[in-house]
Amino acid sequence: MDSFEPVIGLEVHAQLLTESKLFCACSTRFGDPPNTHVCPVCLGLPGALPVLNARAVDAAVRAALALNGTVRARSVFARKNYFYPDLPKGYQISQYEAPLAAGGWLEVEAGGRRVGIVRVHLEEDAGKSLHHGFPDSDRRTYLDFNRSGVPLVEIVTEPALASAAEAAGFFSRLRAVLVEIGVTDGNMEEGSLRCDANVSVRRAGTRALGVKTEVKNLNSFRYLQRALEFEIARQVARLAAGQPVVAETRQWDQAGGRTVPMRTKEAVHDYRYFPEPDLPALAIDAAAVAAARASLPELPDARRTRLACDYGLGAYDADGLSRAGRATAAYFEETVRAGAPPKAAANWVLGEVRRALHELGTDDLETVAGPVPPAGLAALIALVEAGRVSGPVAKEVFARMRATGHAAADIVEAEGLARVDDEAALAAVVRDVMAAHPKVVAECRRGRTKAFGFLVGQAMKATAGRADPVRLTRRLREALEDERA
Ligand code: ADP
Ligand code: MG
Ligand code: ZN
Repeated sequence: MDSFEPVIGLEVHAQLLTESKLFCACSTRFGDPPNTHVCPVCLGLPGALPVLNARAVDAAVRAALALNGTVRARSVFARKNYFYPDLPKGYQISQYEAPLAAGGWLEVEAGGRRVGIVRVHLEEDAGKSLHHGFPDSDRRTYLDFNRSGVPLVEIVTEPALASAAEAAGFFSRLRAVLVEIGVTDGNMEEGSLRCDANVSVRRAGTRALGVKTEVKNLNSFRYLQRALEFEIARQVARLAAGQPVVAETRQWDQAGGRTVPMRTKEAVHDYRYFPEPDLPALAIDAAAVAAARASLPELPDARRTRLACDYGLGAYDADGLSRAGRATAAYFEETVRAGAPPKAAANWVLGEVRRALHELGTDDLETVAGPVPPAGLAALIALVEAGRVSGPVAKEVFARMRATGHAAADIVEAEGLARVDDEAALAAVVRDVMAAHPKVVAECRRGRTKAFGFLVGQAMKATAGRADPVRLTRRLREALEDERA
């Protein structure tokens, strides 16, 4: 049987982090009551004139540059005409023939193949149709125009992604870049970042692209991957059965785990694009581009390379820290500067610190870094390195530090958490445990390893985890042998 290979291209929409909309002063805040952020411009009332938001332009320029694109000196806004109830003007202002930026690339994985970016352009979002949640939702659709006119940047890739998993990984890396440079909050549940996935399949080894379908509005990496997996299998099955793939727009049906047709391509689109007569061409001079370039922070890929080189971290740690965001990476670096060995600091930051954030359900590093500043974590790590507290106890101390903001040494002192390591104390623990469990001791003598494990457990418990398990085990074994002798 012939084998097929998929070809995938993404169109990603990211909401730009601005306070006001693209062409009016209305707020972009999410979650407010419907139709509270509206005005004649974003409602498309006759005679209202758009005024371009400079902050949005700046953010889109930064996005294009971070993706290695070239910003046009003159880009042009265009009207994309179509009818939809959530589009009161009857057209969306976008960029078509002369988009903000062209070219660029992003690697599919660290140091991996580059996927080309075709274009990066500015456009406004539409409103939102509410089909559910009202008593008469079976008969009526409600409209919320708070989103109408919110600034978006659209990023279009070449048809160059080779599998569903690769597409999902790429989308996730793209999100990391956009969030890092602060152009979007990347909040996918709130719709700040979503993507349309275009996919076709072709016989393996051939060059020409097959007929594609487009799955609209995927707002999670997992949905993107599953929708593509489904769509690839569906297209392959059709071609294998001698049926053509129909060019169409489809929708991901999460409950059914499948894609379903929305509209065929033919029925759509003549958008009758034409230059927006109410807006002049957007001029961006070289100095503005240079300033935007200079303002870009270190991007995740560059950071990964630097962390690996500067601190001798392995791939796992360098990658984890680079993806965890700028604040977390900086926290790691300051912890090292405060004296912690890099490997230990990386373990703590990627382990306990991240776990704490996860538990609190927040991305805000300050919730940990407030009570436990880098120097505080470094001091705790120093106690572990010096053998003053055991690993499990250190985690407990960390939890107390988070809760109280006290220093590690003070907590250890106040709560008697220092390691039990004086030999007399260990000997006493071993003696007490053996005295309390004479039957188990007898089983041990008959060589039952399970019984020995039980005694070790009891002894660790008696020290509240504060003993070095290796030394405690050795002492216990010696004591049993002594008795046998
Ligand atoms: P359309 O006009 O249908 O929107 P475009 O040429 O503008 O198509 O491309 C939109 C997206 O679809 C891009 O990301 C592009 O890489 C991708 N794409 C185009 N043709 C194909 C194809 N045959 N198979 C897979 N992806 C494709
Ligand atoms: Mg398209
Ligand atoms: Zn408005």
